[in-house]
Amino acid sequence: MKLAFFGADGKVGRALVPVLERAGHTVRGIEEGDEIDVGGLDACVDFTTPAAAPTNVRAALEQGVSCVVGTTGWDPRELDEPARERGLRLFVAPNFSIGAVLMMRFAAQAAAFLPRAEIVELHNEAKKDAPSGTAAETARLIGGDVPIHSVRLPGLVAHQEVIFGGEGQLLTIRHDTTARESFADGVLLALAKLGELPPGLTVGLDAIL
Ligand code: NAP
Repeated sequence: MKLAFFGADGKVGRALVPVLERAGHTVRGIEEGDEIDVGGLDACVDFTTPAAAPTNVRAALEQGVSCVVGTTGWDPRELDEPARERGLRLFVAPNFSIGAVLMMRFAAQAAAFLPRAEIVELHNEAKKDAPSGTAAETARLIGGDVPIHSVRLPGLVAHQEVIFGGEGQLLTIRHDTTARESFADGVLLALAKLGELPPGLTVGLDAIL
């Protein structure tokens, strides 16, 4: 596919662009301040900031291009209608790592038996939003009022623990992302399935696994 990658020079972009190119995609990087000229491309990928992503995605949709978005900390529902009315796809995943999606699934299963849970999410200090999109989505899946604790420190990549407490027992479900290449399989899968999705917004890797 011919792709534009918003945020190609960011931490995720630098890890993912070479993997996308090795998989056979042609990738044009678009940075802040660059003209958004994506007409004729097959899809756009966005890993930028919560402030930039809505503008980038809206511009891509207006130029007739479907999008795969990993940027967290914004509400993509506002772009469901603009995508749907043009027959385009907007796929947004709070986490493109397959291990993290399994962690969320297992947490949702455990919550049926151990309803008291708290989430600790740990990310690199450069992460701009808190709580993480993955933690917020995990809490939604567990249901009820699940406290989320956010840690931002150098040395971390992306990690999450879901701790369930019951009488005389604890269950911890933990996922560690040790390198940003872990997001590549999910992005490649989303690009492969993009054309099969219904027009409009689809959220979460779970929907296409
Ligand atoms: P980052 O290192 O800060 O990279 C963001 C990049 O976007 C930077 O190169 C930044 O450029 C660029 N940018 C800012 N505004 C832009 C604009 N208007 N147009 C194009 N590019 C723009 O952050 P990151 O760690 O790569 O993460 C990016 C986003 O992805 C964050 O929201 C993060 O939470 C999310 N994320 C999601 C997943 C997932 O699986 N869904 C995984 C990891 C991260 P400047 O530095 O020049 O501002």
